[in-house]
Amino acid sequence: MWVFLNDKFVARDDALISVFDHGFLYGDGIYETLRAYDGRVFMLAQHLARLQRSAKLIGLELPLPEKDWPHVVNDAIARNNLRDAYLRITVSRGTGEIGLDPSLCPKPTVVVIAKPFQAYPTHLFTKGVSLITTTVRRNLATALSPQIKSLNFLNNILAKQEATKADAFDGVMLNAEGHLTECTTSNIFFVQGKRLCTPSVACGILDGITRDVILTLAREQALLTEEQHYLPEALRQADEVFLTNTTFELMPVREVNGHAIGGGQPGPVTKSLHEAFRTNLSRFLA
Ligand code: PLP
Repeated sequence: MWVFLNDKFVARDDALISVFDHGFLYGDGIYETLRAYDGRVFMLAQHLARLQRSAKLIGLELPLPEKDWPHVVNDAIARNNLRDAYLRITVSRGTGEIGLDPSLCPKPTVVVIAKPFQAYPTHLFTKGVSLITTTVRRNLATALSPQIKSLNFLNNILAKQEATKADAFDGVMLNAEGHLTECTTSNIFFVQGKRLCTPSVACGILDGITRDVILTLAREQALLTEEQHYLPEALRQADEVFLTNTTFELMPVREVNGHAIGGGQPGPVTKSLHEAFRTNLSRFLA
């Protein structure tokens, strides 16, 4: 495996960073997770734009010019002879003396990892997954905005730990007002009658790229879409619930807090949107 480190590809075992890297010391950095289908990256420009946005929001200047990023990503796929790939771009504040001040780090550290894509087990898609609502609340947007895709991931890790302990696939986090936000690495949707609903960005979520694609496809199917503030009871009353992210696309949910959703199986809107995602996929590949 070849890993892009700062300015070149190095063998996996040589892809090492300093213990003084502020990504390691403080979680000071940002990342993106991408997926390639047959050598073409899903929503590449959007992922790179979000990386730029995250960088800006933490006052980090990306060390590679904007025009170089697509090449680095595509080279990471080609160098590793991959077609279906999982990719992760990580940019940390870089190596510097101990202390919070980012100016201690003269140069950010850049890492791009590309590895073979490993699909989630099929039964999760055919049967759906179980969720709990976690006691861990989503970061307050005014404290650490969920719109920064940051290396500071403990909020989500604690929620995931709680879900795993409860034997659930994942946990839905509420915001400080008790409204639904998102799961630990995905956005949440539910169907209520004729409406496809998802928490608005103002609830304090990462505005997922797959979330956006699903909203577009839903509108193309003439579904009514709604982005609002919702209480967790909305899930209990929903006809269908599903999750979205770049790696699993769209994941049906069969149960929330032990309560079966709809018929306890993926519903018709979930199925038809996932089908639309697959048939329209080439529109979204770079
Ligand atoms: N929400 C969180 C907290 C995430 O970490 C992710 C993806 O990693 C998402 C939502 C889904 O985003 P995307 O569809 O861009 O992968």
